[in-house]
Amino acid sequence: MSEKKSPKIDLKDLSFSQSVSYYFDKASPHTKAPSGLLEQIKACNSIYKMNFPVKFGNEIKVIEAYRVQHSHHRMPTKGGIRYSLQVDQDEVMALAALMTYKCAIVDVPFGGAKGGIKISPRNTPPDVIEAITRRYTTELIKKNFIGPGLDVPAPDYGTGEKEMAIIMDTYMTMKPGDVDGYACVTGKPVSQNGIHGRTEATGRGVVYALNQVCSYADDMKKLGLTTGLAGKRVVVQGLGNVGYHTANIIIQYGAKIIAIAESDGAIYSEKGLDPAAVLKHRQETKSILNFPGAKNFKKNMDALEIECDILIPAALEKQITEVNAPKIKAKIIAEAANGPVTPAAAEILNKKGVMIIPDIYINAGGVTVSYFEWLKNLSHVRFGRMQKRFEEKSQRNMIDIVEELTGQKASRSQIERVIHGADEIDLVNSGLEDTMIKAYHDIREFYKSSRSIQDLRTAAFALSINKIKESYYAMGIFP
Ligand code: NAD
Repeated sequence: MSEKKSPKIDLKDLSFSQSVSYYFDKASPHTKAPSGLLEQIKACNSIYKMNFPVKFGNEIKVIEAYRVQHSHHRMPTKGGIRYSLQVDQDEVMALAALMTYKCAIVDVPFGGAKGGIKISPRNTPPDVIEAITRRYTTELIKKNFIGPGLDVPAPDYGTGEKEMAIIMDTYMTMKPGDVDGYACVTGKPVSQNGIHGRTEATGRGVVYALNQVCSYADDMKKLGLTTGLAGKRVVVQGLGNVGYHTANIIIQYGAKIIAIAESDGAIYSEKGLDPAAVLKHRQETKSILNFPGAKNFKKNMDALEIECDILIPAALEKQITEVNAPKIKAKIIAEAANGPVTPAAAEILNKKGVMIIPDIYINAGGVTVSYFEWLKNLSHVRFGRMQKRFEEKSQRNMIDIVEELTGQKASRSQIERVIHGADEIDLVNSGLEDTMIKAYHDIREFYKSSRSIQDLRTAAFALSINKIKESYYAMGIFP
């Protein structure tokens, strides 16, 4: 009997969600999951598409919105909400699936989900954004698509803590007396039951990850790089939440931002750009172009093609395709955005020996700290509140004993260094750093231990699928 040949896939034609499925299929043979279970893990469990009317001045407009819950193997499901004119069902499905694999990689006990509203956040007045956000939340409540134990949204492209506060307020209004209600959404302002460090968490996670990636001498040697982030020349695409905080934190490790690309243009300076100053310039002039001391690129996409050590796409999906991949000169690409490198581009880059650090790992800092916020909301107590003073007193006692035994007095700065008890932000950053280091270690080990896996993304997907498989087995679903 002749074997049925599977049709050859043209990677260039894949939609975003098909790309995620392609990566999944590529990793599947490296897992120990049976085929039926693989199909279940890959499938999107629930898709809710909604249309609702909103008043724009004297006009009524129909708003298209989505919430997709990709996997219920762990509850609640979790994932951001995106406001963009590009939003469609395929995009939200892809992003929801990535959330499932991402949560598994960093051992965050959630299934993946994502939401999207097809609007331009820039061209929509704040009162209309608020009306749309409230109506969207109400629609989710009506269908049981939101709740601390059901599905917990967070910020994503085009949204931030303001929208999360509106979601929480709407939820609490509709569910009075729900003592855990604040945990219905994460990424809230700190004053509204949020957590310190969530705003910058994704960017900080990207930097912790890169610091770890660059710490392996043999990996760096293969790329012709030295270890550590100090001195690395970095290009960032997108100066929004993720891109800005990544840029701002990575310079604290001694890296240099030599170019920044935004939607309206890109700038370059070999001396290094100060992200805070560029952001201020953008807020004042409405553009990043003509930043003092920097050169403008002709086209914003040109910035991605300059020679650099680390390229950080932090804007949107499908930014590096088969068209510009051959021209990319970066040694490392850190996928801070979701899906910025298409499968066709990844093939080209892998052949060129570029190290791609996949989105499902490197941008997982946001969901990790969202998990901490959710835990804080459910426990109703700020991290560090119970132990900070106790730790400080114990450490003070220790210094007193050492001083008594040695007959020497510690200086004020030495004492301060030792007795600092952990605040919430210290614990959040410590938990985030540990998570990013451990997850990279696991992915790298998996990659190194397999002779047939060719890239870190396949290793990350395979590792993630194995972990999800274990959750299904724990629920009693055996092959
Ligand atoms: P954001 O809306 O805060 O910022 C995105 C920025 O990208 C904006 O400044 C926008 O002007 C810019 N941009 C848009 N198109 C561009 C282009 N063609 N070239 C250059 N810049 C462009 O969004 P964000 O929250 O920073 O999200 C960015 C990416 O990171 C998305 O893919 C998102 O899914 C992913 N992500 C976000 C989080 C989070 O916590 N916010 C977590 C994980 C992943």
